Parts: sequence; structure tokens; C-alpha cells
Amino acid sequence: MNKIDDCIFCKIAAGKVGKLIYEDDEVAAFDDLNPQAPVHVLIVPKKHIARISDVMNDSDVCLMGKIVVAANKIAADRGISQDGYRLVINCNEGAGQSVWHVHFHLLGGRSLSWPPG
Ligand code: AMP
Ligand code: ZN
Repeated sequence: MNKIDDCIFCKIAAGKVGKLIYEDDEVAAFDDLNPQAPVHVLIVPKKHIARISDVMNDSDVCLMGKIVVAANKIAADRGISQDGYRLVINCNEGAGQSVWHVHFHLLGGRSLSWPPG
């Protein structure tokens, strides 16, 4: 699904549905509907990009860096910086991607095993 009009994360990032827990000019974040850890936040670009493998140009690379900075701030706000947290991006079905708008999972608040499933 690549149509921006039908994209739930575009709607959430634009503030049309749901509740944002962080926002700046280019990035938005919200709690995951089905949390896998005490802290499970999704951080997204406001711009629609379907998958991380579509990130090709310098502008989008810079945008991904801004998402990492936002994730670090949210981790600090949620009190998980010291103990540790994980940023996860699933790319395509085989890796578990189910929403076709780039999102970074920020997971923390419990011990996280490795390797992931
Ligand atoms: P992924 O499987 O990596 O594409 O991750 C998609 C994530 O989006 C899952 O963790 C879902 O629980 C979450 N999710 C799906 N729809 C919503 C929604 N409307 N609001 C918040 N989280 C959502
Ligand atoms: Zn979108």
C-alpha cells in the first residue's frame, strides 16, 4: 500500500487521528497501538516514505538522522536512556513490516533479548 491518502501514519503524523507524544517540523511520534515493551513508541517522518530502502537522497538521509535525534530525546523523557533501548526498523514483509510508512520502533523499559525473532 503506497497511497498517501490511505496511509494511517500520514494521518496520525498530521494530527488528524490519534495522539502525538512528540512533534517537530519534520518528525512525529506516538505510542504503538500494540506495545511490545513498557515503552514502545513509533517515530515517523511527516513526509510519506513507504520503506527504509526507499531512502536514497541526502535530504531523506538527513531526515532519518532527525528521527534518531527525536528517538534519543523521547528515550530520555521516558527514563530509559540509562538502562538502554532499541531502535528497530522492519523493511518489507519478510522482516515484519506491516505499515507502509517508514517508522522507527523505540523499545525499552524491560530487558531486551538478542537476537530478535
Ligand atoms: P511494523 O510491523 O514494523 O510495520 O510495525 C507496525 C506497528 O504499527 C506495529 O507495532 C503496530 O502495533 C503499530 N500500529 C499499527 N496501527 C497503528 C495505529 N493506528 N496507531 C499506533 N500504532 C499502530
Ligand atoms: Zn504515510
